[in-house]
Parts: sequence; structure tokens; C-alpha cells
Amino acid sequence: MTTTVRNPTAATNLASILQRMAVAARDRGRKPTEISLIAVSKTYNADAIRPVLDAGHRVFGENRVQEAQAKWPDLRTAYAGVDLHLIGQLQSNKAREAVALFDCIHALDRPSLATALAGEIKRQGRRPKLFVQVNTGDEAQKGGVAPRALVEFLTFCRITLGLTIAGLMCIPPTEDMPAPHFALLAKLAADVNVPELSMGMSADFECAISLGATHVRVGSAIFGGRG
Ligand SMILES: *Cc1c(COP(=O)(O)O)cnc(C)c1O
Repeated sequence: MTTTVRNPTAATNLASILQRMAVAARDRGRKPTEISLIAVSKTYNADAIRPVLDAGHRVFGENRVQEAQAKWPDLRTAYAGVDLHLIGQLQSNKAREAVALFDCIHALDRPSLATALAGEIKRQGRRPKLFVQVNTGDEAQKGGVAPRALVEFLTFCRITLGLTIAGLMCIPPTEDMPAPHFALLAKLAADVNVPELSMGMSADFECAISLGATHVRVGSAIFGGRG
């Protein structure tokens, strides 16, 4: 046992992000408690994550199943109440591990993955919350459902597979101003009647909150640059 704080800045950064989130929420007449901070700990090891857990934070995001499997079972044993989000792309052949490990999956974006997840949810009796990723910038190389294909995909998930879709998620193109993408995602969510919005990262979470985010995914502003 050591009492040395290994990553003191991460806990300080966490407090400052929560403070900025609260200000952004109140500026829009929203309650800070409506917005969940997902601390994105990808690439950081358990020693870097523990100070954020010690500070009382419990909601974390990872973008790879294998990396999360290596870190989180032990951390979960040590800290009760962890809420673990998969924010990265998921291959259908990892659906089993993803449903077993994660409480929320943000990048549902194609029928084959939806079918695999529905099968595992039934088999395991675990129901991770599901977000559908929308490719708001219609970028060829990026994951996500095209905005014009969203209704059909949601109908497939909801009616054909019986899945509950909690929200929509987007990652705006890096070269664009994020606000129009966040506004589009919010409009689509209202149109298709899903309540939650996963949008906003270190550089733009305040903008996302002003446009209705219920989940912001913040990594480098808490843990530092990933080099
Ligand atoms: C890495 C990542 C984030 C966090 O990005 P930062 O800029 O470090 O805050 C958010 N969302 C997704 C999907 C990511 O892969």
C-alpha cells in the first residue's frame, strides 16, 4: 500500500470539468444532474485511473473491448458501482464480451451488430444501454448510420429485434465546427423519440451541453494527452 497520489492532476482536472459542465448546464437552464460525464480512460492504465475513482467518479469510457477486459475486472472488484461505457467501434464477433463487460454501448451502427447484440442480451440476460451512432458528417471512413438511414435502422432494432434504444451518439468530423452536428443529432433524436444524446469531447463538451447532450465523453482534459 502506498499513500502517494499517482496522478494528482487527473482528480483536479475531473473537478474542473464537472464545474465547467455545471456552468454550461445552468447557462441553458438545465440541471447539472441531467448530464453524465464519461471519463474516457482509453490508453491509461489502472494506476492512472485510480485517482479518478478515489475522487468518487464512477462513469468511465473505453474504446476497445480487449483493453477494457484487461483493466476493469480488477478495478471493479476494488471500487463498487462502476458504470462502464464502450464508446468505440465494436465488431460483431466481440458482442459476447461487450455485453458481458459493459453497461452501455455507444456505437451501434449496423444490422449485423444489432443482431449479434440482441442474441447476447437474450443469452446472458444482461441489458447494456444502447446508443445508435449517427454519422452526422456522412464521412465515408467513419462508423455510424447515415442520417437518412436512421429511421429504417431504428425500426429494425426496435421492431425486428425488440431492442430498447436509449439514445444517439455522434463524433463530428475533426475539421468541422461541432455545433451543427450536435444540433442535427438533437433534432434526429427528437424526431425518432429517443431521450439521450452522447455528444461532446474534451474540446467541445460545453457546446454539446448547450445543445442537449446527456452524456459527454471526456478523455484528454481529465487524464492528459495520449501522446
Ligand atoms: C477518445 C474518445 C473520446 C475522448 O476524446 P478526448 O478528446 O480525449 O476527450 C470521446 N469519444 C470517443 C468516441 C473517443 O474515441
